[in-house]
Formats: sequence, structure tokens, C-alpha cells
Amino acid sequence: KKIVVALDGYSSCGKSTTAKQVAQELGYAYIDTGAMYRAVTLYFLEHFIDLTNPKKVQEALNNIEVSFQRNSKNGRNEVFLNGLNVEDEIRKMYISEKVSEVSVLAPVRHAMVSEQKKMGKRRGVVMDGRDIGTAVFPDAEVKVFMTAEVDIRARRRQEELLEKGQLVPFDEIVENLQKRDHIDSTREESPLRRAEDAHLLDTSHMTIDEQVDFVLDLVHS
Ligand code: C5P
Repeated sequence: KKIVVALDGYSSCGKSTTAKQVAQELGYAYIDTGAMYRAVTLYFLEHFIDLTNPKKVQEALNNIEVSFQRNSKNGRNEVFLNGLNVEDEIRKMYISEKVSEVSVLAPVRHAMVSEQKKMGKRRGVVMDGRDIGTAVFPDAEVKVFMTAEVDIRARRRQEELLEKGQLVPFDEIVENLQKRDHIDSTREESPLRRAEDAHLLDTSHMTIDEQVDFVLDLVHS
């Protein structure tokens, strides 16, 4: 029987790397919900959308279509915004700086959550994000809430960005992670928090394989 695996937690705990591998092992689809919020943020920035104007925000949302497509060259599931591949653009620092302010907005959350529910309707998905186990799939069969020490998370994020050719100072990354975690966990609409029935996973001193095994063990138990 196909199930839903929900991976939530703080920024840069290794959620997406873990989720990807778990999905591959299970033959499930992997859905990176953070990428959806990032794509919306890119659109809002490109179109100078006034975040304080609910009408403009809703109008913009009506013009946004976010989708995922598998790249046959590298096997990656890539994000498309209105038909355009934005996979690389949305990972940049200027998007990370703005994404939590956009993700706070109720109309944005409503649109994304309802889209994500549709994507996982037939189950057989691994979804990572902040509110999957609480708002998107409260009935997910497996829920994991990931954390890690902030220095370790920042180091990992810094290496990730460096691999993409972006050199960002360590302090700037720490500040960005903490700011996002704060906004994400204090917002009114589907805030970042651990679902009561989510298994806590501190990845500070774990390898990716260990994280993947932790989740797979829950799936198979
Ligand atoms: O996972 P990632 O770091 O790419 O997510 C970027 C941002 O998107 C988060 O900091 C958060 O503001 C927002 N987000 C969210 N709900 C989700 C996934 C991401 O609000 N389910």
C-alpha cells in the first residue's frame, strides 16, 4: 500500500537530500514544497508585487503555475515557473532572503497547500517542507521532524552554495537560517512546528545514509 512520507523541520537540516533518496528507494515521487514557495517568491520579486496588498497578491497567484519536471539528463526533479525552468535561480541567496516573508501570506499558503494536497492525493509521495505533517497531510502515515545544530546547518548550506558557485559568508548564512526559522515558526498560518505524532530526528551528527535508513525503517515498520 502506498503511503505519504512527510519530512518537516528547520532550514538546511538535510530534508531534501534525505527525501530524495527515500523517494528513490520507495519508487515514490519526491515533492520539494520549499521550491514551490521559492518559485512564487521569484515571481513576486520579478513583478514587484506589493506584499501588503492582498488583491495584488491574489492576482499574482492566479497567474502563477508551479510544476515539477524530471530532467532526463541528470534524473533531477526540477521546478518550473510558468513553463520556465527556475531550478537554479530559486536556490540563490536573494530568494532565501525573501522567501519567508512571502510564505507568511495566507493567500500564498492556501494556494500552495491546496496544490500540494492534489499532488499527493494518490499517495506514494515523499514531501518535504515545514507544514506537511501538520497542514498538508495531517494523516501522513510516516512523519519525521528534522533538526540540527545551527552551525552545522549553516556549514552544510555554505558548502551547497559554494558547489553552485556562490560564496556566501558564514555569518550571513547563520543569520538567514535563524531569521527564516523565526518567521516560519511564528507565522499565523500553518507555522513550522513538530506534529505530535512526528518522529524527531536530530541530524547534527548523522550521515545522509543514516538519515535515509531512519526514515525507511519507519516506512517498513
Ligand atoms: O525548504 P526550503 O529551505 O527551500 O524552503 C524555503 C522557505 O519556504 C522556508 O524558509 C519557508 O519560509 C517556506 N516554506 C514554507 N512551507 C513549506 C516549505 C517551505 O513556508 N512547506
